[in-house]
Amino acid sequence: MAEIGECSASNSSLENWAKLIPTDKMYVDIEINSDETVIFSETKSTSVEKHEWCKITRNSDLNTATLQNRSSNAIIVDETLVQKDETTFIRCGSEIVSGPVRDGHLSFKFEMSSDSKLCKGLKVIGNCHVLISVDVEHAKCSICLNIWHDVVTAAPCFHNFCNGCFSEWLKRSQEKHTSVLCPQCRAAVQFVGRNHYLLNIAEDILQADSSLRRSVEEIATLDSCSLIQSNLVIGSVKKRNEKRPRFVLGLEESGGLELPCPQCGTEYAGFRCSPHMVHLQCHGCGGMMPSRFDTGIPQHCLGCDRAFCGAYWQAQSLQRSDIYATCSPETFKPISGRTISRIPQLTHENNRHEQDITGRCISQMGKTLQDVISEWIVRFNNREIDRTRMPLNHAEMISAETPICNECYEKLVGFLLYWFRISTPKYLLPGDATERENCWYGYACRTQHHNEDHARKRNHVCRPTRSR
Ligand SMILES: [Zn+2]
Ligand SMILES: [Zn+2]
Ligand SMILES: [Zn+2]
Ligand SMILES: [Zn+2]
Ligand SMILES: [Zn+2]
Ligand SMILES: [Zn+2]
Repeated sequence: MAEIGECSASNSSLENWAKLIPTDKMYVDIEINSDETVIFSETKSTSVEKHEWCKITRNSDLNTATLQNRSSNAIIVDETLVQKDETTFIRCGSEIVSGPVRDGHLSFKFEMSSDSKLCKGLKVIGNCHVLISVDVEHAKCSICLNIWHDVVTAAPCFHNFCNGCFSEWLKRSQEKHTSVLCPQCRAAVQFVGRNHYLLNIAEDILQADSSLRRSVEEIATLDSCSLIQSNLVIGSVKKRNEKRPRFVLGLEESGGLELPCPQCGTEYAGFRCSPHMVHLQCHGCGGMMPSRFDTGIPQHCLGCDRAFCGAYWQAQSLQRSDIYATCSPETFKPISGRTISRIPQLTHENNRHEQDITGRCISQMGKTLQDVISEWIVRFNNREIDRTRMPLNHAEMISAETPICNECYEKLVGFLLYWFRISTPKYLLPGDATERENCWYGYACRTQHHNEDHARKRNHVCRPTRSR
């Protein structure tokens, strides 16, 4: 196991603005005192050998930092794989695992200091939650000159724009096959993603001054242009050169064919990634795929807005080499084409007594779980059920033909089983469940999570009749 320690400060300001706290208490905290700090990993046996592990750069908002993976392995930051050389945002509380898997790798919590010097102009609430007073002028998109709507941040320059405005800009750059330059400072953009932190700030500003709000029509037009759902990685020339040697052999073997795309490794059906192609990172396998606005092939799960590659590579009928990760098409496909054989764990708010009752109720009716789900998907598709409590994004836009990811499918099944249960008369439930009274708090009851006896004796698959 590699030991992580020591950092190199590239400037001399010696204020500890953040630290990495190892979850394993055998190790000491790593203090970060320079605005740009490279952290090294050290191999235990030969402690002279050092490798760069990551670089942490403090962002100008003083509340977030940018982490770049400098090791040769992928690392995990807040549950997301970050490949070699890639950057990601971190904030107070972010979790960083020093390798591509949790097992055998140290993990750290990133903590930012709430030192008075840092928080000038900031109000500190608790440990890391801070309220910033932002100048309204600094919360405007330089393309449309309005307060950001669905704000996205471009890296490495960290300028912010409306999703719709930047998407249009991106589309134009893609059509012209030019590199994507920041509309504000002209720096080459390597990465762009939604910024949930600034989203809240923009919302606060609009709450405080509603005259800054745009009309419903304007917002609708802007939303219809918005293409950035998950983080986009934009090819950079430097990266290509670094990776090139890996393909030299293949080039000779294939008799002088052009190099495959260094990001996603593919060339097919007349489509080739341009050097400036924008790529999406699949949430399922961590692999890259070109972000295509011209194909109609779904690349994002509508239920969670995350990118998935299963449908994309299948549509390209591509057999990919094992150098590159890809997902099976089974992991991202239309709701109607999916099957289920066991009740998902999250069903009935994780209450296993209720899951057990639902399971026995289904077999008592002489049906399978699949039978019940198929019936309810038809009702769902016919809009016979109320979707207010449906735990997926864009609930109203989802139909039986919508491709969704495994996780969202399990959530949908749980939601349908709720409807199955509340529409099943009590006398059709297994004998031991017919006499139970409804808990006043219904599905929202918190006691059911820690009091076994209560969870068993009351029915919790019902609407709350009281709130706390
Ligand atoms: Zn804008
Ligand atoms: Zn910029
Ligand atoms: Zn590519
Ligand atoms: Zn999903
Ligand atoms: Zn994938
Ligand atoms: Zn209860």
